[in-house]
Amino acid sequence: MSDFPTPSSGAEPPASPFRIQTLAVVGAGTMGQGIAQLGIQYGFPTLLFDLNPAALARAEQAIAAGLGKLVEKNKLSAEAREQALARLTCTSALADVQADLIVEAVVERLNVKHQLFKDLAELNSSTTILASNTSSLPITRLAAPVPYPERVVGMHFFNPAPLMALVEVISGAATAPAVADAVEALARKLGKTPVRAADAPGFIVNRVARHFYVESLKIVEEQVADFAVVDELLEASGFRMGPFRLMDLIGVDTNFAVTSAMFESFHQEAKFRPSRVQQQKVDAGHHGRKSGRGFYNYQ
Ligand code: NAD
Repeated sequence: MSDFPTPSSGAEPPASPFRIQTLAVVGAGTMGQGIAQLGIQYGFPTLLFDLNPAALARAEQAIAAGLGKLVEKNKLSAEAREQALARLTCTSALADVQADLIVEAVVERLNVKHQLFKDLAELNSSTTILASNTSSLPITRLAAPVPYPERVVGMHFFNPAPLMALVEVISGAATAPAVADAVEALARKLGKTPVRAADAPGFIVNRVARHFYVESLKIVEEQVADFAVVDELLEASGFRMGPFRLMDLIGVDTNFAVTSAMFESFHQEAKFRPSRVQQQKVDAGHHGRKSGRGFYNYQ
């Protein structure tokens, strides 16, 4: 029996069933750990799930350190940090993942996200919102095989999630307006500036930003300049980080997966073609800061 709202015949719109009091974050990598930090920092009991216990342990440390930095900067009291950390539960048992809002931040692969949402749909009520932090996969396609696709929505944070203000809120063809509204309101409660985006490949920011990476990789591939020179020049011209330093922060593998997904979504438009140079980095396991080596060496 579903508890998903059915259209009302009365004049008054029914109260929204999408109240968000508890959060779960799936995937404790670069993005998941930052999103979980935001949840506990802003008062939400938050569950963090990852298949890999080592990733969970790293995330727990990173979150404690992230909140510690806020204490050092006098943006958070030591007591508030302890209270926030007490709101965090880490688990590698999928059955534990039950919440009002679940944000997935796992690898950028449609089949993995599909399976995850189908599993989560079985474990949760039909009014649990299933949000994806995908950078490039269409929300409509993501939602299609999921029971009650009305509750599937894009909630796209930027890296590093605790610091970057913007959150894109993306409605797919099936997303209920009340779901996008609830996610937008939550983003504000997390101190963010939400922006509604249509369900187009890469939404807004990644579509524009893609060329920052793709064109820079082409420059290196054509041996016009070395990657460090490209970074140096762009940083000198005002960008906070050059494209290669930024790819190392994002995750070279994640950035490559996003470009590849956008290339397919735009029917192989040449301007989104992924780079051989980047492919090699991925194949070599040089995934950026998280693996200790990317374009630069962090060991
Ligand atoms: P990541 O590689 O750093 O972390 C992914 C984590 O997910 C890993 O810890 C992995 O163990 C875990 N995982 C994989 N499959 C899983 C599953 N089925 N169940 C549970 N955990 C699983 O990835 P990331 O860079 O954090 O990216 C995650 C998502 O966020 C992607 O969709 C990506 O496009 C998006 N995103 C990334 C950035 C960025 O800058 N890295 C920015 C915005 C959005």
